[in-house]
Amino acid sequence: MNNTISFNRPYMTGRETHYLYQALEIGKLSGNGEFTKRCQEYFEKRYGFGKCLLTSSCTDALEMSALLCDIQPGDEVIMPSYTFVSTANAFILRGAKIVFADSRADQPNIDEDKIEALITERTKAIVPVHYAGVACNMDKIMALAERYGLFVIEDAAQAIDSYYTGQDGVKRALGSIGHFATFSFHETKNIISGEGGMLVINDDRFRHRAEVIWEKGTNRSAFFRGEVDKYGWIDVGSSFLPSEIVAAFLWAQLESLDDIQERRRAHWRKYYHRLSAWAGQHGIGMPHLPEYATNNAHIFYLICESGQQRDELIGLLRERGVQAVFHYLSLHRSPYYRDKHSGGELPNTDRYSEALLRLPLYYELEGIDTIITELKTYKRYEKVAV
Ligand SMILES: *Cc1c(COP(=O)(O)O)cnc(C)c1O
Repeated sequence: MNNTISFNRPYMTGRETHYLYQALEIGKLSGNGEFTKRCQEYFEKRYGFGKCLLTSSCTDALEMSALLCDIQPGDEVIMPSYTFVSTANAFILRGAKIVFADSRADQPNIDEDKIEALITERTKAIVPVHYAGVACNMDKIMALAERYGLFVIEDAAQAIDSYYTGQDGVKRALGSIGHFATFSFHETKNIISGEGGMLVINDDRFRHRAEVIWEKGTNRSAFFRGEVDKYGWIDVGSSFLPSEIVAAFLWAQLESLDDIQERRRAHWRKYYHRLSAWAGQHGIGMPHLPEYATNNAHIFYLICESGQQRDELIGLLRERGVQAVFHYLSLHRSPYYRDKHSGGELPNTDRYSEALLRLPLYYELEGIDTIITELKTYKRYEKVAV
């Protein structure tokens, strides 16, 4: 085959330029205008989120959450090692010590049963990451947080339009459960604005302060609502809000959210059904969904038997013009943190780091039959290679 299949391709619905022009016509290009409000209200209504604030990235939203939790030097924050650097950096920037927990044996999310042993006097927060948009066990995590007086910040960067069904039988959107939650609209995510993100504030005590931190430490938002006569510097803060141009782009995506999700889920199901038997024959693990979790089709991954098998599959697909990629290198083994990591071995994390393989998954993906066919030649390839 001659045309290559890339790992990701950002999808545009076609309405983006329409709303970009509208934003230009309105003429307010800085943040917190019409489109920002429209997006924030959409999320609050559709998913039952608390207050939503668009940010320039999920990284920014995580940094805001660290400020809101008032993380001080020496405080400890528990999170998985199998995650993106921003999950940890946001708290490192406030002087926190990161305490890494291992992933579950059956999927890359934090193992909820390994958290309690890591809690100390200095623990301030737990940051569950909903990997691939699949829910962590939030009942257990919220119960621990309550017992020990900790904050929970859901890193829901990958988890838009995904749900968790609790022991009470209630189905809740990911991002609506922790004290705070953070989303990403980076071009590699399901819903995009180039760079972009959102902080969700579910704990009402922090609504006001979140808005102040968002607006450089000023009460400008209250001023625009006519609640105060003049605005001033009342707290620490930074410039976390995106421009209206970014929000207008995001609005076009939100109008097509159901269409985007339906298409991604169809691709995901096709991979799943057509690869299951083949994977079983080669000792390859398929993505696992706990009974309490839904699938938002953010990532389709396979767990290879070994790092060698993963590299062989990446090589085979590359030869046939298909880009498949691995994912996170464990943070506890990274050059920046390995000397600071004082916890024990994290064998499941290491296994995902070594053997997890991601296949192309995006709205306009057309070569999915080719990818499946090529993967299924794997056995033959092995013999040729020997
Ligand atoms: C993408 C991602 C981030 C960072 O998102 P940005 O919007 O690029 O800052 C953080 N955490 C996880 C788990 C992610 O997947």
